[in-house]
Amino acid sequence: MAPTRHYMPANDKFRGDKFRDECGVVAIHNHPEAEKLAYLGLHALQHRGQESAGIVSSNGIELHAHKAMGLVADVFTPPVLAGLAGIHAIGHTRYSTAGDSALLNAQPIMVQSNKGMIALAHNGNLVNAGVLRKKLEAQGSIFQTTSDTEVMVHLLALSREKTLPEALADALRRVEGAFSLVMVTPTQIFAVRDPRGFRPLAMGRVPPAKGQIGETIVFASETCAFDLIGAEYIREVKAGEMVVVGPEGISTRFYSPALAQSSCIFEHVYFSRPDSMVFGRPVHQSREELGRQLAREAPVDADIVVPIPDSGVTAAMGYASESGIPFKFGLIRNHYIGRTFIEPSQNVRDFGVKLKLNPVRAVLEGKRVILIDDSIVRGTTSRKLVRMVRNAGAREVHMRISCPPTVSPCFYGVDTPNKRHLIAAVKSVEEIRDFLEADSLSYLSLEGLKKACAEGEKTSYCTACYTGNYPTSLVDVEEIFPVEALK
Ligand code: SF4
Repeated sequence: MAPTRHYMPANDKFRGDKFRDECGVVAIHNHPEAEKLAYLGLHALQHRGQESAGIVSSNGIELHAHKAMGLVADVFTPPVLAGLAGIHAIGHTRYSTAGDSALLNAQPIMVQSNKGMIALAHNGNLVNAGVLRKKLEAQGSIFQTTSDTEVMVHLLALSREKTLPEALADALRRVEGAFSLVMVTPTQIFAVRDPRGFRPLAMGRVPPAKGQIGETIVFASETCAFDLIGAEYIREVKAGEMVVVGPEGISTRFYSPALAQSSCIFEHVYFSRPDSMVFGRPVHQSREELGRQLAREAPVDADIVVPIPDSGVTAAMGYASESGIPFKFGLIRNHYIGRTFIEPSQNVRDFGVKLKLNPVRAVLEGKRVILIDDSIVRGTTSRKLVRMVRNAGAREVHMRISCPPTVSPCFYGVDTPNKRHLIAAVKSVEEIRDFLEADSLSYLSLEGLKKACAEGEKTSYCTACYTGNYPTSLVDVEEIFPVEALK
């Protein structure tokens, strides 16, 4: 079998104007409507992946699964949820670039193994899944999907350890990279983070329903999922920790020696919702501070601060309050965009961007505008937005970005274009300003980014997409794509 390319995140097919995370996960233990809580949790995590969604539930004896392409609200109709009725459940929502095979790779992955029936869902990317997979295939393993999550399932099944927690720990000690995963058996929920803590995973509790025996323990990629299901935040699952919730209660262990922590700082910059807490810190607080820090580092004489909605809003609020320049919604986002659009045959210039965002002429006309966004990927969308604002009458357009230039691809679960498609990897800041046709352009410094996200207080961060210094070896890249992947 040809080596899979799913784990090759430096993506030549990347055509978007934003980075995308690949997944959100949720898990519920001991609730009379666990499948519905998982569904609501996934709904709150929809921003982490919009291509497929899945839930596996347990009625205490066996597991039931449903997964399909589409948004959570479309995939889980009332009859589908009725078929998943259970007391424990895990859920997964996914973004993928895998085309036709996308449904095959939808999670959770459910298997009948020699350790019993299990289902597993995973957020993050392994950097040695390809190499492990080749070895497993050479030993006779047959893979059903191209996802690296299945590599963990095979390692678990092949482990010589006798108990499920030991076998999972054994499997996870062999993989390298980013994983926040949840697993369900007929009676237990497992929640685990990789030893570097790349991706977030929070633990909470739902107050018992009337007559309910025992408490409900929940896990989710972000705490915004807790708010929707009425759960209280307890704490983060720690890097390298495995939490098991079962009939005997909650047990926890560290399955791997502690490694230098490298939580993804881009969760604070862009991915996570501002109403979430990730890595134990409110995202809103980080994001507003990013804007304040940007205003201190890159001031400009202007009339209004305008966010590129939605991702630039909180940083723009911070920039406005620090600079004293009024915050205005000069661009309005249309939230009701379906998957395909019929474009008029008379070609409309910048149609794709205009579908999403429209300028408010009354706000922009005659103004010197500071446009705030969280990142520039290829630069083409940013250039269209600068033009849009100028065509709406702005006198000057100053672009401010609430993180440093993105110069390297991510190998830990974020869909990133190849390095040669990252504008900041191939152009200087002045060349990018020129390309964007902006009057000025500034990025936040790396030191400013770390300070705004309180590096060192509770966590230390991965910043590899801004520095090229990866916290792990890049086994797959080095083995399979020795030169191409980093170009
Ligand atoms: S490379 Fe960037 S996006 Fe990827 S984990 Fe590190 S900080 Fe996050």
